[in-house]
Amino acid sequence: MTTRLLSVLVLISAAFAQAPQTPSAAPDLIVSARARQIHDSAIVVDTHADTPQRFLDEGFDIGSTDPKDPGHISLDKARRGNLGAEFFSIWVDPETNQGRFARHTFDLIDSVYEQAAHHPDRMMMAFSVADIERAHREHKLAALMGIEGGHSIENDIHLLRDYYRLGVRYMTLSWSNTNEWADSSGDINNPQIEHHNGLTDFGKQVVLEMNRMGMMVDISHVSDKTFWDAIATTKAPVIASHSSARALVDAPRNMTDDMLRAVAKNGGVVQVNFYSGFDDDNFRKAMEAQAKDQAAAIQNYMDQLKAQGKPVNYVDVDRIEREWMAKIPRPPLKSLIDHIDYIAKIAGVDHVGLGSDFDGVSGATPQGIDSAADLPKITQSLLDRGYSATDIHKILGGNLLRVFSQVERVSREMKSEMAVK
Ligand SMILES: [Zn+2]
Repeated sequence: MTTRLLSVLVLISAAFAQAPQTPSAAPDLIVSARARQIHDSAIVVDTHADTPQRFLDEGFDIGSTDPKDPGHISLDKARRGNLGAEFFSIWVDPETNQGRFARHTFDLIDSVYEQAAHHPDRMMMAFSVADIERAHREHKLAALMGIEGGHSIENDIHLLRDYYRLGVRYMTLSWSNTNEWADSSGDINNPQIEHHNGLTDFGKQVVLEMNRMGMMVDISHVSDKTFWDAIATTKAPVIASHSSARALVDAPRNMTDDMLRAVAKNGGVVQVNFYSGFDDDNFRKAMEAQAKDQAAAIQNYMDQLKAQGKPVNYVDVDRIEREWMAKIPRPPLKSLIDHIDYIAKIAGVDHVGLGSDFDGVSGATPQGIDSAADLPKITQSLLDRGYSATDIHKILGGNLLRVFSQVERVSREMKSEMAVK
């Protein structure tokens, strides 16, 4: 959230496009008893929510029941949407945290533990597939953590291992910024950034160390070459924690058909991003058209604060971003379902899941998806497209749990190989 979108907007070209047609306001999708039954009997896993920034910067309490809260995630919303496990994103803004990436990473990790400590009756920290299953049995939200951006390890393999020990179970090799060992899709065309032609030797070592520890390798955000290097290096299946299909929307961060097939061959899973800027072409074009003005509005706000000697307030930046996003009509839910359906067709139904990017997209989700409480509408939509209950369960979380189990198994094997006998 907050400056995340600003960075994306600054990076994309502000090519002017025609304003899109306003989609007619669709009547709200009714979730049938059958869809509700299928949905409620699944372990629903979402692999990307940016809520920790709200915990840390806004003092947001996940137990909040404030009806005016614009957030996507709360314990109440999770319960209503039968969300079983959430991977909370540990995202450190590389611009504003220069020189203290690790420090901020630790603070965000702490913020997730503190929420779980305040709500032990409804939420628990989880570190394994077995933990997620136990949380499901106990009707608690399983809270997991994924680091978004390899810059958090500060080029230090020891720090990577410490993050694993603190419970981090995936790491996105890069965020929108190229770090010192992995190229990002976010700045790959910027000649001022020093690139590495994918992963450096150290980057490959990081991937193998993640395999050994049992931390899932996440290829969302990385450049195409980094993706291919990661696939060639990893000994375990990879995930894309929040990525959509490039054939449908030509965003550099979306995945090509070849990449989707490669993830299938690797045994991994692509978790579809709910952000309309990645899922809907009209929305994306409208966003590109307003990118310059939005960036200028935020810069203006920052300059004002600077002149007053005050620090940047992320709540205000998020508010400005939301105001700009709200000018663009939200696409129909179909735009999101199309990506799930497309990836299921290209990669196979065993290789697609949900990576919402909740609380990280300034409210820019499709119509009908206002929070985790709306997840059953996805089940209804898949049912409407002819998906079986078994396949829907795979998409809702079964595929991710299979990949996570496999990552745990590879880790056990690698650890036993290195153990002195
Ligand atoms: Zn992201």
